[in-house]
Formats: sequence, structure tokens, C-alpha cells
Amino acid sequence: MNENEEKGESIPSILHSFYEDRPFRVCTRCGESLADFEEGYRVSKNFKKGEVILEYALCLPCLQRMLEESSEESKGRLARFQQERLRENVSGFEDCAFCETTRADARGEEYGIAGVCCGDRLLDSALICIDCIEEMHELLSEETRDVWKRFREENFPGVPADFEPFPGETIKTA
Ligand SMILES: [Zn+2]
Ligand SMILES: [Zn+2]
Repeated sequence: MNENEEKGESIPSILHSFYEDRPFRVCTRCGESLADFEEGYRVSKNFKKGEVILEYALCLPCLQRMLEESSEESKGRLARFQQERLRENVSGFEDCAFCETTRADARGEEYGIAGVCCGDRLLDSALICIDCIEEMHELLSEETRDVWKRFREENFPGVPADFEPFPGETIKTA
């Protein structure tokens, strides 16, 4: 690829902050400006009945820190799940990355989407249906669930306790 050519595509509005009605500007965890992270950041949103119930952006250092806090056991199980299940050449927000469910078919219109971004560009994207999210949560150790539970409680105090954001390794960030 030509060095001057812009990578990826511009960030689609579905990955913008629904609450702020504009692209995410700061990391939900550390509050730093996302534009300053050359290594990029990840935007994640969870939908239920087709509506946004939780959204966040994590700079890569914060995302990595959360992954490091996850137990080795969880990391190994998730890696195996992804190896076995990740569909080839499936990206974007219409098809689940792990099974044949489409966004329109997701149970209760419940699913998560994530995009790896750098500056104002989208480099990678994925949708995960609720069944696969639940399957992945089953793989997590108590310790790892606590890491994400703390993140949720600190940042989204209004979100119901039975809700877990999907974990960090869902799509490759490199
Ligand atoms: Zn951060
Ligand atoms: Zn699925």
C-alpha cells in the first residue's frame, strides 16, 4: 500500500457516541484524548432491542491493561474459542463474527459491535450476537469477570448488574 494512502475507512456513524451524537473523543477509562493515541483505540457498543444500552471507547493502553488483569485461564479459553470459531472474511456490523446469525436475527435484537480505530479511521470491525457473547462469558473466570464488572460499575453506574460488557480480545487490535 502507498504510504500516503489513508488506511481503512472513515468511522461510520453507528460507532459514534450515541449519547454525545458525535465520534468518541476521549477514552472512557483514562479520559485522555483518543486522537493522541498513535496505536489506536477500540469503540464498543452493546444493543438490546435494537437500542444502545452501553457504549465505550478504550485507548489501546487501557484495553491492554484490562486484558493483563484478566486471568491466564480466561485468556487461554477465549483465544481457543476465537481460534475455533472466528469466521473467515467476516467483518462489519451485519454478520456475527462467530456464528451465522445476522444482526437482524440476533435474539432480542441484542448484540455487541466493536471497531478498532486510529484517528478518524476504522481499521477493523465486528459484530457478535448475544448467544456468542454469552458463550464467551461462560469461559471467563470469576477474576476476569470482576475486572469487567468493576469497569462497568465505575463508568456506567446505571447499567443493570446482570449486564456484562464483552471482553477485550474479541477482535484483533494489531
Ligand atoms: Zn485510556
Ligand atoms: Zn453469534
